Amino acid sequence: MSDPNDIRIAVFVCRCGINIAGVLDTSEETGLAGFALNLPGVVFSTDNLSLCTTTGADLIKKSIEEHNINRVVVAA
Ligand code: SF4
Repeated sequence: MSDPNDIRIAVFVCRCGINIAGVLDTSEETGLAGFALNLPGVVFSTDNLSLCTTTGADLIKKSIEEHNINRVVVAA
């Protein structure tokens, strides 16, 4: 069991196709996902085309498992 004081946050920024990505840089390289990775407790951050799809949900699940995440932020 992981230490409850070990806060491991994953941030998922949704592009919503071009609805959000058309007006905001969501990317890991130069945008919001990259900015979030520098915040305290954040150990994983990425953007995705559409988080409310099965593919998006699978990404969240896989990332939680791979990075031992215990907090999730979805920016959508
Ligand atoms: S999760 Fe929200 S912001 Fe993302 S694709 Fe679905 S409706 Fe759009």
